[in-house]
Amino acid sequence: MSRFLNEKYLSLEAYTPGEQPTDMKYIKLNTNESPYPPSEGVIEALNSEEIKKLNLYPDPTGNQLKSSIAELYGVNKENVFLSNGSDDILNFSFMAFCNDSTSPVKFPEISYGFYKVYADLYKVKYSQISLKDDFSINIDDYMGNDATVVIANPNAPTGLALGIEDIEKIVSNNKDHIVLIDEAYVDFGAESAVELTKKYKNLLVVCTYSKSRSMAGARLGFAIADSEIISDLEKIKYSTNPYNINRLTMTAGIAAIKDNNYYMDNCRRIIETREYTAAKLRMAGFELTDSKSNFLFARTPKMSGQELYSILKQKGILVRHFSSPKISDYVRITVGTREQMDKLLDTIEDILKDK
Ligand code: PMP
Repeated sequence: MSRFLNEKYLSLEAYTPGEQPTDMKYIKLNTNESPYPPSEGVIEALNSEEIKKLNLYPDPTGNQLKSSIAELYGVNKENVFLSNGSDDILNFSFMAFCNDSTSPVKFPEISYGFYKVYADLYKVKYSQISLKDDFSINIDDYMGNDATVVIANPNAPTGLALGIEDIEKIVSNNKDHIVLIDEAYVDFGAESAVELTKKYKNLLVVCTYSKSRSMAGARLGFAIADSEIISDLEKIKYSTNPYNINRLTMTAGIAAIKDNNYYMDNCRRIIETREYTAAKLRMAGFELTDSKSNFLFARTPKMSGQELYSILKQKGILVRHFSSPKISDYVRITVGTREQMDKLLDTIEDILKDK
């Protein structure tokens, strides 16, 4: 740390992303990426004339991509916001909608670790609300109308999803605050709240191309909400980085929407592989949550989460382990291809046979 850092950031604990190792080739099941490549249409679009235009700035309005997304989701382009990964929308939302005096923020105690970092970054008071013993969210805890509410649905790393009726109850009981529903994993079996954005002016649904649309490396996120919320986010964007979506990512994003069926087929495949792997792990004595996501959250009575993570890593399989006490028994395993999961299952069988 230099002596120049603004003192308000001295105690900030930054987010630690999952490992992206370069030392050897792993079966990489640790950061919830899609095991499938982008569609042919995306690859073709990237191999086009567009690449020769990198000397020119991209369209800061992102109008063409907004129109594609709007058409797919049945909303208007004024209801769509684009960002450099959905983390950026979360960042902008904490900046725009939370403040200590009138809108602190609440989110589940076990959830995406970045929510706490953004709250700390903007010095916003936050409450981390306990989950029930089975890791599910008690919606009554979010009915206070006293804070911005941030919920990942499905939640991470538990994979558990709330139904749309429960989301609506939370939104309708917090009319004076933003309710942000982070739908990073929604395409793997949960219900999207996008339709509700037409009815509620306080609902902000945050989505990403990183998971179901195989574009984690392109960094593209979008939000859907009432046009007034979108224009607030635009104000922040134009006050920080107007060209936040690069030209190639914009092109890829438009092409991916045209190939939506390819991605939705992949989601179905991932759901099938998830259920197959979950059943096998249960047979091997694991306890798992009922994940509606592209990852499994699992523990074995035979060893700690840390130990399982470490042995799998030595054997070339990378999963994610979280050290916070309530979930330290667990590992989070991204659902890969059937072949990758068979390799994982064989390796786990091997590891556990002497235990
Ligand atoms: N929300 C949740 C719940 C996530 O797990 C992630 C990915 N780590 C994100 C948002 C951010 O994803 P991205 O910035 O790649 O869109």
